Amino acid sequence: MLALATLVSACDRTDPAVPTSLVPVGANALTARAGETLSTPPAVMLTDQRSRALANTLVTWQVGASSGTIDVDTVRTDATGRAAIGRWTLGPIVGLQTLTATVSGVEPVVFRMSVSAGAASALLRRVPEFQETRVESTVAQAPAVQVVDAFGNPVAGEAVTFVVTNGGGVLLDATGAAVGVQVTRTSDANGVAQVDGWRVGTNITEQNRVVASLASLGAGATFRVNPRADVPVRLEAAAPRSQQGVPGVDVPSRPAVRALDRFGNPAGGATVVFTPRTGAGVVIGNVRVTADGDGIARVGRWTLGTDSVQRLDATSPQFPADTFTFTATAVASIFSFDVRFLNGTPSARNLAAVETAVERWRRVIAGQTPPVRVVANPDVCGPGVPAIDEDIVNVRVYVNLDSIDGRGSILGRAGPCFIRTTSGLPVVGFVELDTADLATLDQNGTLDDVMTHEFGHVLGLQAFNWERRGLLNTANSNDPFFQGSIGRDGFADIGGAIYPGIPVPVEETGGAGTRLSHWRASVLQRELMVGFARTGGMPLSRLTVGALADLGYVVRVDNAEAFTVPPFGSAAWGEMVMPGSTRVLSYGDDHWPSAVYEVDRSGRQRLVRAGDWRVTRRR
Ligand SMILES: [Zn+2]
Repeated sequence: MLALATLVSACDRTDPAVPTSLVPVGANALTARAGETLSTPPAVMLTDQRSRALANTLVTWQVGASSGTIDVDTVRTDATGRAAIGRWTLGPIVGLQTLTATVSGVEPVVFRMSVSAGAASALLRRVPEFQETRVESTVAQAPAVQVVDAFGNPVAGEAVTFVVTNGGGVLLDATGAAVGVQVTRTSDANGVAQVDGWRVGTNITEQNRVVASLASLGAGATFRVNPRADVPVRLEAAAPRSQQGVPGVDVPSRPAVRALDRFGNPAGGATVVFTPRTGAGVVIGNVRVTADGDGIARVGRWTLGTDSVQRLDATSPQFPADTFTFTATAVASIFSFDVRFLNGTPSARNLAAVETAVERWRRVIAGQTPPVRVVANPDVCGPGVPAIDEDIVNVRVYVNLDSIDGRGSILGRAGPCFIRTTSGLPVVGFVELDTADLATLDQNGTLDDVMTHEFGHVLGLQAFNWERRGLLNTANSNDPFFQGSIGRDGFADIGGAIYPGIPVPVEETGGAGTRLSHWRASVLQRELMVGFARTGGMPLSRLTVGALADLGYVVRVDNAEAFTVPPFGSAAWGEMVMPGSTRVLSYGDDHWPSAVYEVDRSGRQRLVRAGDWRVTRRR
């Protein structure tokens, strides 16, 4: 200022005004947040050699590198000598940002803005969202987040809350001691907040989750662990301990053992040895290791020998105390259908279709079902069925091929009318098919499959028999499923492991006889026992054979027909169209509505389902 005063006093008072001094209005060392638009933009004041305001002089403004944007870059000073820019929006960088005001011939003014981070805008995970670990163990990298502003600058001093929201785990301190399910940590100079440790829960079926959140932000960051089982500590049987089988044939249900960890989770890694005793046939695949996921080790094959009672021991070198013995009782190997045609001799083609159906089922049913005494009045099972008073072994089927209502509408219906008291297996059943429709089926190549399908219902493949055996779960009416263990194994064998829902899916759509009595067509597509017939072949798969075993039949699962569940997400999944044909034929309501009686060896009867085909018959 002293130098300036000297200069002014030295000048002639009549000299023209020249720009002499440019100063900031207010401070030129300022603070702001990244990206902020200043509410009071910087201004400068220009004076002449006699300290008078100098109006109408051009001031040039220029932002420094990475220092944001201004609305105009030249402004003329007003009558008071001031020039202000309209707007300065700071750049996203934390640190020094500058704005320079220049007037020709004088020292420029530099505004120095010390820029800090903006408001917290997001939490970024500093460790992976998913980590791997065993139950009740700590994750390798404890949950940690970085608080950042809208530009990604770290924000310090923010209170981040970490909460265990799922899985029953606990957060730990630096010494490894549990500190509860909620911890609050303040973000450091790098914006980072972290807990010292996280120990997950004990259940492998539950995803463990920790959510980090900031009160000022709705969203948080989630950390997840799907824990693996701990090491196995014991074994349990995972298949029926006793079953029936046919000599020379694989058992219906392969013996299996499940390993469990100390929390009861299925555990992989236990070796199981399956050893048949003398006379108990042949085993293939006798050494197995329990699998991760389901914890199961299952013998490859067990083909029965000739003894009447045969035993297979499952042992483990790791768990000598846990030995399981599986028993198979040999039964006679002839299953047969006693088919009685009503309404005259069928056409040669229809007779051939019945014979095909019988043969397909006989290939997969190995064991005889014992005789029971059946006493019935005429017409109890269906129209034209004569009086019955005899011992019946296996199953008798009355077949009525008749003109019902011409093409379309009623195709046919089938089901059992007498079942065995002890086993629940059908002993007498009825099949009715419309000959007008059979001609159509013959033309499009589905006659044999449809006939086989209807005989399947007579054998008990339908809701009524499944429910009596506890095989059908309808707790969720939108997602009914078959829960027999052998049927489920069969479903897995044909590729059902890719199905994301609860196996085995049962039809949830359609009318009374379609719904709950068939495999779900959207998943099983053209398996024999879905509720919609298709051209191109309908295989009798391991799923259906397994379901027969769950009902109590002795089966030969190795004779099942080849079929693979279409892959999830493929074009075929959920579609009702077969290659080469767009024709899909609904069976309609194809369950036979007669009353059903239980009968035992001595002929005692008990009504177990009310019903009468005479009052429900639609023709
Ligand atoms: Zn059906």
